[in-house]
Amino acid sequence: MSLIVQKYGGTSMGSPERIREVARRVARFAREGHKLVIVPSAMAGETNRLLALAKEINAEAQPRELDVIASTGEQVSIGLLAIALHGMGLKAKSYTGWQVPIVTDAAYSKARILGIEERNIREDLERGEIVIVAGFQGIDDDNNITTLGRGGSDTTGVALAAALKADECQIYTDVDGVYTTDPRIAPEARRLDKITFEEMLELASLGSKVLQIRSVEFAGKYKVKLRVLSSFTDVNSTDMGTLITFEEDEDMEQAIISGIAYNRDEAKISVLGVPDRPGIAFAILDPIAGANIDVDMIIQNASTEAITDFSFTVHRNEYQRAMKILETKVKPAIAARGVVGDDRIAKVSLVGIGMRTHAGIASKMFGALAREGINIQMISTSEIKTSVVVDEKYMELAVRVLHKEFELDKPPTTERMKP
Ligand code: ASP
Ligand code: MG
Repeated sequence: MSLIVQKYGGTSMGSPERIREVARRVARFAREGHKLVIVPSAMAGETNRLLALAKEINAEAQPRELDVIASTGEQVSIGLLAIALHGMGLKAKSYTGWQVPIVTDAAYSKARILGIEERNIREDLERGEIVIVAGFQGIDDDNNITTLGRGGSDTTGVALAAALKADECQIYTDVDGVYTTDPRIAPEARRLDKITFEEMLELASLGSKVLQIRSVEFAGKYKVKLRVLSSFTDVNSTDMGTLITFEEDEDMEQAIISGIAYNRDEAKISVLGVPDRPGIAFAILDPIAGANIDVDMIIQNASTEAITDFSFTVHRNEYQRAMKILETKVKPAIAARGVVGDDRIAKVSLVGIGMRTHAGIASKMFGALAREGINIQMISTSEIKTSVVVDEKYMELAVRVLHKEFELDKPPTTERMKP
């Protein structure tokens, strides 16, 4: 018998019939003798609906009240799931975030979990209850309701698994695991049985939407055994989805590249003709940081005659704001020649721990893109990833070409391991 935390996403909870189906799956695990903590999301589309409703009433709604509103989606879900389980003769009890309580900081709409008081949950589990906890929400020290950022129910699930030292945290969604890339773009994408925690962290931060990045960080910190599976299989299915593992064990599929992520959320900015002297990077980026704008890739050219160009990317939503700061404050201050930008770009990234030990991955990547005539605008690398920025209109093509080039549709073999 084990203690399992199961998180069900919005589509899994999307209709009365889907909720009954979740209840049937939960019932099966309960019958197998497991102790269960269930974390549902709001019904599909509900959080969007609630936030749009708020916007309609007041476009400048205060964040505190937006969290009060958005958190109700999950409250409905926990109640509905509890009564579905009761209808099947099972003992189940629901908790909102503040009833647990799940204590967070006060950063509305992106709060971080600081601690979970898990005593009541444990007592309920001992009494044979199935415990249902609302995802995505918590309460700060001043009793304000907070939410954890879009997709935050994943983090609730992982945090509960960490606090309860659960044997496993299962994330049920509408796909049956983590794929080599988005199957909507490359239909030949392959489901992975295992992926390392580090690779999952990169994929999540580079744009893969399977898991909220914070949930992966949390899993890493507390070594939570995490699994992504589908709630759309038969409730008796023994399919194990994708395991996010901490061990790079022997029999692990040793692909050099595990996955390709993409992201259309960024914009590129270049400050042209800047003097190449100490303090210039600081002079450009400090006002950006001061405006709370996150910067991702940063590139500075080697200079000719002490003049260089400086480029970086920001989130598309911050593009206009960043351009304005650069035009009005930075450009005059450092006597730059100009500021240009492009918000129709996309970032495509290869991720794989095999990159550590294999040379030539980047050149193979660039060669494949070149053959398709796709121009690379920016490049950045780390130990286990290589990212390129390309024109947005070539993004899907780039993903498909790279998927083919690195033969991600085929399970890795020892042959492919050879450099
Ligand atoms: N309901 C929230 C959202 O739509 C949280 C979640 O689904 O994980 O972002
Ligand atoms: Mg989600």
